[in-house]
Amino acid sequence: MQELPHMCSIISAISFNSDLTDFFEKNRETIINEWVDYPAIDDIRKRLSYTKDEYRTRVATNVLGYFSTVLSGENQPGDCPVMRTIVKDFHALGLTVEDVFLNCTALKNVVLKLFDRHGTPDLKQQQCNLIMVMDHNLYGVLSIYSEIKRAHEAELEFRNRIIQENVLYTRTDVEGIIIEVTDAFCNVSGYEKHDVLGNTHSIFKHPEVDPTVYRELWETIKNGETWNGNLLNLRKDGTTFIATTKIVPVYDEGGAVKEYMVFRNDITSDELAKVDPLSGLYNRREFDAIFEKLSLTAVARNEPFSIILADIDHFKQINDTFGHHEGDDVIVRFAGILRTCTRNSDVCARWGGEEFVILLPNTELHTAFDVAERIRHAAFKCLHIGDYAVTSSFGVARLERGESMHDLFKRVDSYLYFAKQNGRNRTIAKRALPKKVNLSHSNTFSPIIP
Ligand code: GH3
Ligand code: MG
Ligand code: MG
Repeated sequence: MQELPHMCSIISAISFNSDLTDFFEKNRETIINEWVDYPAIDDIRKRLSYTKDEYRTRVATNVLGYFSTVLSGENQPGDCPVMRTIVKDFHALGLTVEDVFLNCTALKNVVLKLFDRHGTPDLKQQQCNLIMVMDHNLYGVLSIYSEIKRAHEAELEFRNRIIQENVLYTRTDVEGIIIEVTDAFCNVSGYEKHDVLGNTHSIFKHPEVDPTVYRELWETIKNGETWNGNLLNLRKDGTTFIATTKIVPVYDEGGAVKEYMVFRNDITSDELAKVDPLSGLYNRREFDAIFEKLSLTAVARNEPFSIILADIDHFKQINDTFGHHEGDDVIVRFAGILRTCTRNSDVCARWGGEEFVILLPNTELHTAFDVAERIRHAAFKCLHIGDYAVTSSFGVARLERGESMHDLFKRVDSYLYFAKQNGRNRTIAKRALPKKVNLSHSNTFSPIIP
């Protein structure tokens, strides 16, 4: 193809006589009809899901209109706003460079065929000028098209860079093999792209996530539904990052799931602010927020709601005898026992020092009592420092109708105090008394002393 400036100088030297312009005007409908019927155009038309009439009005008429403006001298070939718009429309319709080229070639073939059919000696002389105009326009169309495409690609490139740098995104095939990963995700996870691509997300699997979570996740997305949730993940260096995660299935044309897109938001620092760094349980501030939310829900749903307050016995002595470091270890292990003895829906928090609190939604007092006893026995059995078995005391209460959070907490605290006063290593669970609570009365669940 010749250089555009060179072409322009040739074109500008060409002038058309009125016969040629008339030829275009008179044969306008025939050109359009034959063009629309052209086999190669038929394929493109079907791909765009256009009827012939739609193709005629939206594409063919516009393009021919453009040629008329060039022939009449209204527009300079190669820099025509009409053509630019048409090319943009082609692009928006999803036509490729090849499609545009095919369209123009088909138009040229139709025009020249008609031209020959009507050709008189006078008109024949114009033919080479006409070919030149049309060839130039093919060139013009393609150069405008590639210019738009370049601008479009530059924008895509810019967007892609923003996504790469900021969005924690991965994409997998239907088996879960990762086929795309962004720089941002690599930065957070500590992996290189080549570590991640070709692997599954199991490389980020966190030992603390219950296997049922992953099972439920796979069931959801295999059903073609979106999965949402917060997940603990392992970085390459073994540390934890927490991410709000959204997994979106992508369907093929037949409606089957072909890929999964995974979007994440790193909430590690937000989550860490809620957690006590030593035990990994919720801290007191987060506990307060959750306590309020869960107790309100329980009241609204008219469901039972219980609370356990736990305190390690003689902890000061443990520290003094075995050292602060051993004391810390007891706290960590006691927290682990709380986790294993409670349900996922229960909320365990470190209230302070060696004192812990557990919220048990939808739980009656006797069940909460059993949970406390399970913890007490497990700690006594597993938490040994040398020959010394760690004991703990518990207060258990259930939210009563009309009771405030503050009163409930005061009550459970008084039961814990009562357990301490009565020899420690025991659980006291009570209903609230209508009158002033007499703690020395034996309306407790029988305290179990090992
Ligand atoms: P009781 O059986 O009545 O509960 O006696 P106790 O000694 O366990 O209770 P007390 O409240 O007198 O002592 C708690 C001790 O816990 C005092 C404090 O130094 C210690 N402590 C608080 N926080 C930590 C911690 O993070 N690590 C360690 N190792 N000790 C802590
Ligand atoms: Mg204590
Ligand atoms: Mg204490």
